[in-house]
Amino acid sequence: MNALPPQAHTVRSTCPYCGVGCGIVASVDRQGAATIFGDPAHPANFGRLCSKGSALGETLSLDQRLLHPMLRQPDGSLLRADWNAALSKVADGLRTILDRDGPNAIAFYLSGQLLTEDYYVANKLMKGFLGSSNVDTNSGLCMASSVAGHRRAFGADIVPGIYRDFDEADLIVLVGSNAAWCHPILHQRMIAARNERGARLVVIDPRRTATAEAADLFLPIAPGTDTALFCGLLAHLADTRALDTRYIAQHTAGFEEALARSRAVADDATTTARATGLEVSDIVRFFDLFRQTERVVTCYSQGVNQSAQGTDKVNAIINVHLATGRIGRPGVGPFSLTGQPNAMGGREVGGLANQLAAHMGFSAADVDRVRRFWNALRMATREGLKAVDMFEAIERGTIKALWVMATNPAVSLPRAGAFRGALSKLELFMVSETMLRNDTVEAGAHVLLPAAAWGEKDGTVTNSERRVSRQRAFLPLPGEAQPDWWIVSEVAQRLGFAQAFAYRTPADIFREHSALSAFENEGHRDFDLGGLADIADADYERLNTVMWPLQAGAEWSEKRFFAAGGFFTSDRRGRFVAPEFPHLRAATSDAFPLRLNTGRLRDQWHTMTRTGRSPRLGAHSPEPQVDIHPDDAAAAGVADGGFARVATQHGSAVLRVCIRPGQQRGSIFAPIHWSDATVSDARVGALAMAETDPFSGQPELKATPARVEPVEFDYCGFALTCELIALPPGTWFARVAVAGGYGVLFATNALPTRWHGLAEKLIADDTSAPNISICRGASSA
Ligand code: SF4
Repeated sequence: MNALPPQAHTVRSTCPYCGVGCGIVASVDRQGAATIFGDPAHPANFGRLCSKGSALGETLSLDQRLLHPMLRQPDGSLLRADWNAALSKVADGLRTILDRDGPNAIAFYLSGQLLTEDYYVANKLMKGFLGSSNVDTNSGLCMASSVAGHRRAFGADIVPGIYRDFDEADLIVLVGSNAAWCHPILHQRMIAARNERGARLVVIDPRRTATAEAADLFLPIAPGTDTALFCGLLAHLADTRALDTRYIAQHTAGFEEALARSRAVADDATTTARATGLEVSDIVRFFDLFRQTERVVTCYSQGVNQSAQGTDKVNAIINVHLATGRIGRPGVGPFSLTGQPNAMGGREVGGLANQLAAHMGFSAADVDRVRRFWNALRMATREGLKAVDMFEAIERGTIKALWVMATNPAVSLPRAGAFRGALSKLELFMVSETMLRNDTVEAGAHVLLPAAAWGEKDGTVTNSERRVSRQRAFLPLPGEAQPDWWIVSEVAQRLGFAQAFAYRTPADIFREHSALSAFENEGHRDFDLGGLADIADADYERLNTVMWPLQAGAEWSEKRFFAAGGFFTSDRRGRFVAPEFPHLRAATSDAFPLRLNTGRLRDQWHTMTRTGRSPRLGAHSPEPQVDIHPDDAAAAGVADGGFARVATQHGSAVLRVCIRPGQQRGSIFAPIHWSDATVSDARVGALAMAETDPFSGQPELKATPARVEPVEFDYCGFALTCELIALPPGTWFARVAVAGGYGVLFATNALPTRWHGLAEKLIADDTSAPNISICRGASSA
């Protein structure tokens, strides 16, 4: 933990990356430069920050920032416009399409990077005043299956436990979670529980990740078979009389059917081993550990969620906790590790297409309640299109207007190449962005709306344990940038909804959001922030973290759920769910014999628009790579450090080969972070299939059939430049931040003379000339 400079002006805020939701302190000097520290008082991290959080101070420059509204011209160029022209263009366009084609021709695609207040206003405009539920978010690629699983089992989207359960558990099971890289501060907490109290860690993952390296037991499960493992565990618990029959009888429903289905999937260690590809001895050890340990927390993340059967996987995990009554008490429970900083806040306001607002759905009573609360003029009455469905509707031409806020779907969606192409069909395409250029902007956005970035915006976020924290501004708004809630409210006012969107501050929105959560609630709904519905501006400004629920008049506490039942179903009983038989939607073949698993690296975040600015973070993994088992590499004829083309039915990318014995045979791994803004040919989202889970709509991003083939380059090299430079056509490159400029790793078959010519030209043009080094062969530069 770093010590704070004693006389600095400091502002407490929250990290903008993962769902751990660490508190930070920004120390701002007289020149306005900020240094970032962990907040010792924040209960998510107690002063600690991971590599990404520690490097936040390197990401605050205005380089490549979108600072003014811009409008696309008939010749395809973008020209600066004033706010009034840009906002009127959006409002007029929406009104035309609404009148002509109806509300379902409009869609909003939002982001877990938005603040709750931004999210609330956007959701309210769409679902209450435009009349459609076509609101989804990049959280739909991240944790929608957890939401669906929670709602099926608990009757509400609720994480029953809290972070302190990691300190108190005796067994922590991580399923499909590389927490050491993706939730590092929580992982450190788990390691501390092991080192200080002897807690054991089990990691279930097809890849031997950094998290697996630290495990007491690693189960290298076959892709897509988590459900079978937990079905086998439920059968084992029943056979060994390890069930909590009193809890099952008093507080749940559906046990017999779920057990029967589980037995059909895997009824003992041997059949479980057959279904999962694991060793029988490892399964026996895991089953024994789970059965014999009362305090068990089972965490799950993208490896579970990003699956065409993700919801069933979530419910198979929850089933074993309900069956043993291990829920809602210290040190026990299922625990969804949320990927994004405010995915939970987005869920609170209804930022997914299958939610309305404040954890209400589309029952007639809920729709009527929200209509009355909002005085809504045109209320959505049914679910809208989820993320992948939304972009398929754009492909078909049935959605004609799209507003993207704070995300980069042209990179992050599955089949990203096809969906990026489909964006050109839109009649009205708005992007609220901090960056002047990214792949989504370059896909032809008609209106660019400059949004406030982290450090400039002000509001709240909710982390994985239901803890609401303030994000505070510590930098001035640059150029003409504005908060997202302001931009949406201005459009709403131009559409004629001035009274409903007359917000002056984020505090106004937070009060309304809190009041809606308590409106006609009386304990029927889990999400309740009624205790903050009347918060004064000054108290909102000072607000410390608070965990929901917080009913009006109630004492605040760190509440766990369901130890004594009280589920949010019609009969207040939790639901066991009988999962479908596990299977992968697309089969491998001679043409595509491998399975492509996509995921994150330790030191990058999403499409690198922020982390890509940090030299420190760029040094961890400076170029996109594909991890492959030695046997698969030999079969494909690719060498460690060379290049390979990874191809699927949907696209291809050229990646640096990294041979790893810990990579499961038959499965390759590639990171999601690179885009056309940073590499020539490595958008991995374009390779992933778009098969979706039937309940959550979340796409399968972990098992796309793929092949690998060698790519030869005659020369490779690197260039150090102060400015962005254009490289000769046909060059493979990856750009990374270095101190004072950019490092460009490249490979080419063009003659070196062409490169020396480029260097000479740049040297002649600019005194801040690049340093270019070229060598023969394609080994790592
Ligand atoms: S663990 Fe997550 S929230 Fe905490 S510092 Fe790292 S990226 Fe930020």
